[in-house]
Amino acid sequence: MQSFEWVDAESVEQAVSLLGEGNERQPVVAKAGGMDLLDLMKNGVVAPRRVVNLKTIKGMDGVRFDAKQGLELGALVTLARLSRESEVRRRFVALADAAEHAATPQVRNAATIGGNLLQRPRCWYFRHDHFHQAGGDDVERVRAGQNQYHAIFDNQRTVMVHASTPATALVAYGASVELSGPGGKSRVVPLSEFLLPPDMNRPRDTVIAPNELLTRVRIPAPGAGTKAAYHKQGERESYDWPICDVAVVLQMEGKTIRQASIAMGWVAPTPRRATEAEKLLVGKTLDEGLARQVAQTAVKGATPLSKNAYKVPVLEAVIRRTVLAAAAA
Ligand SMILES: Cc1cc2nc3c(=O)[nH]c(=O)nc-3n(C[C@H](O)[C@H](O)[C@H](O)COP(=O)(O)OP(=O)(O)OC[C@H]3O[C@@H](n4cnc5c(N)ncnc54)[C@H](O)[C@@H]3O)c2cc1C
Repeated sequence: MQSFEWVDAESVEQAVSLLGEGNERQPVVAKAGGMDLLDLMKNGVVAPRRVVNLKTIKGMDGVRFDAKQGLELGALVTLARLSRESEVRRRFVALADAAEHAATPQVRNAATIGGNLLQRPRCWYFRHDHFHQAGGDDVERVRAGQNQYHAIFDNQRTVMVHASTPATALVAYGASVELSGPGGKSRVVPLSEFLLPPDMNRPRDTVIAPNELLTRVRIPAPGAGTKAAYHKQGERESYDWPICDVAVVLQMEGKTIRQASIAMGWVAPTPRRATEAEKLLVGKTLDEGLARQVAQTAVKGATPLSKNAYKVPVLEAVIRRTVLAAAAA
């Protein structure tokens, strides 16, 4: 690892200005919990000349709920806090559960929701300094290689999946992120447009500019009768990444589903909405048969790679169970 300068930022404005002094050859990077950044530095994927510590900025870790505006999370809210926060657990249970099941207790205590959304893919080709420095097209290497955990949808141009599991729940809830840039300017971007398909030859997998900070995550207020559930399916219960994860948000009137949102993570380059399957639910009362039909529809069109066809039936089962769990919540 090459040596670098460390700055404890005191404000968003100062951090933005420091980030703006970087360039492609000598990057200046932000650090929140540092859980991903330090791995990337140790693997030689990132070699910053300066690291800007965001944890010293006051007021970037608020959690606020308003019945009209919805939920506002400061980017520095940790995953541990997100999983425990009563307003989040009561009104956005799929997000609280996603945060609770991400990573390990130690990681969740340090990792922030902002850094989590900005982490780079866990693809072992991407993380390996040999492959990374060789550059070029990852897709062909991974197609011929160890692709057990890669994408089964939308995998023509990239086969990597976005790593964030809270992102799956946030996409199901229709969340947006607030980005703050130079001159006090900020913009709000829907999360589904913020996340880009991972690319080994690009320094980030989102639309954030090098001199912008992610300052807040916002989720619209849930309508009356909103129910939700989340499930992360791994090879083991803890300390592991998922095979897939699913978040379901239903708006119900009695037993009738009025609106449905199903987001699937770790199966496509970015969390994918099962839009055709969602339509099957609207205006209906859920039973086992409908849940099965919804799950079968959601996995239609999957194009698995040489070693990950097993993900299709796993995803189908997880969708069926999560839809049933949401309606019964
Ligand atoms: C064993 C293990 C298991 C894991 N399992 C999971 C899992 O199941 N699900 C999951 O989602 N994650 C998992 N993780 C990953 C972990 O959750 C992430 O590394 C962590 O959430 C990143 O957050 P951070 O605050 O530490 O980010 P950092 O490492 O500080 O930053 C990540 C990136 O974001 C940038 N950045 C950070 N904050 C900002 C900001 N506010 N504005 C602009 N740029 C910013 C940094 O420059 C860096 O590029 C796992 C990690 C480990 C080690």
